[in-house]
Amino acid sequence: SKAWILETPFHGIPKEDDFKLLKEDLNDLKDGEVLCEALYLSVDPYMRSLVSLGMLKAGSPMVGDQVAIITESKSRDYPVGTNVIGRLGWRSHTIVSDLTHIKLLPPMDDLPLSLALGPMGMTGMTAYFGLLEILDPKPGETVLVNSGAGAVGSIVGQIAKIKGCRVVACAGSEDKCKWIKEDLGFDVVFNYKTVDLGEALSEAAPDGIECFFDNVAGDFMSTVFPHMKLYGRIACCGTMSTYNAVGPQPSGPHPYMTIVFKQLRLEGFMVRRWWGKWSPAQVEMLQWIKEGKIKYKECLFHGIETMPKGFISLFEGSNFGKVIIKA
Ligand code: NDP
Repeated sequence: SKAWILETPFHGIPKEDDFKLLKEDLNDLKDGEVLCEALYLSVDPYMRSLVSLGMLKAGSPMVGDQVAIITESKSRDYPVGTNVIGRLGWRSHTIVSDLTHIKLLPPMDDLPLSLALGPMGMTGMTAYFGLLEILDPKPGETVLVNSGAGAVGSIVGQIAKIKGCRVVACAGSEDKCKWIKEDLGFDVVFNYKTVDLGEALSEAAPDGIECFFDNVAGDFMSTVFPHMKLYGRIACCGTMSTYNAVGPQPSGPHPYMTIVFKQLRLEGFMVRRWWGKWSPAQVEMLQWIKEGKIKYKECLFHGIETMPKGFISLFEGSNFGKVIIKA
């Protein structure tokens, strides 16, 4: 088996040298165990925060979800040939003893299996529940989403359109902006790197923003506050702008005072909160994908050796769509 470990905790944007690929021999299977071979592996921004939070240290195996196929089995529940999903880490082969660590894929019909890591999986469910449960947007309301061409953001905007909202979104390149404007049909799109954000927001939402799905935080979020409407809602999904920050962070009372004066509801969330509701959400997502109401983009890397490259692309913004490593 090949398995990536964290060799050096990240300082700033992760570098390829921060990781090390180990080769491991696998034992024979014991009763009840299965051998999983990775087919598709996911890299996600939260893996960066695990290092900042000290939950991954030098020498720790890299964690993450993968779609795998069972190639040997001593369990009746998971015969050879079964496709599963599980948090098995950045590794090619895994002996699983505790079968609660894997589960069958959601119903996928004939969709590519990799979608179980994207719109049908963690990033899609994040968009679904963050938007529908935290923001609860009403038809006609304006929904702002940043990182709008990303794995989460692109689905947020599309579900908001399905729900009859006006979608304002931004992304960090012209190609990304073109895709979300022309193919996904978002109403107002801008490249946040080439505009004055405050001016772009005034123009995009002169009457204010009811719902803000925030993937970025930091200065971006502070700039959005004055554009929020009375009783606006903010879903704090992620903080891309802070993950690689070094040194003291800019801060000031103003954005936080706005929360109080505008009586905003601002709520952080982790997608696992709705774990028990994933199945019906996946059925609905499957239906939308089949009807062409939800489109998706994948940014494929080939070979487990490319995992650090795929991961780093998330922070350089060079990924376009859900980053998936095809083993
Ligand atoms: P994306 O596919 O959106 O990829 C990350 C994107 O972030 C990049 O492509 C880039 O897009 C943007 N970006 C990178 N660095 C910065 C920066 N310094 N400032 C602003 N934007 C930056 O990733 P995901 O869709 O997987 O994740 C999006 C967010 O959702 C992340 O914050 C993640 O942590 C969060 N998340 C939260 C979950 C939860 O349960 N709360 C679960 C899953 C994800 P661009 O080119 O547009 O700048």
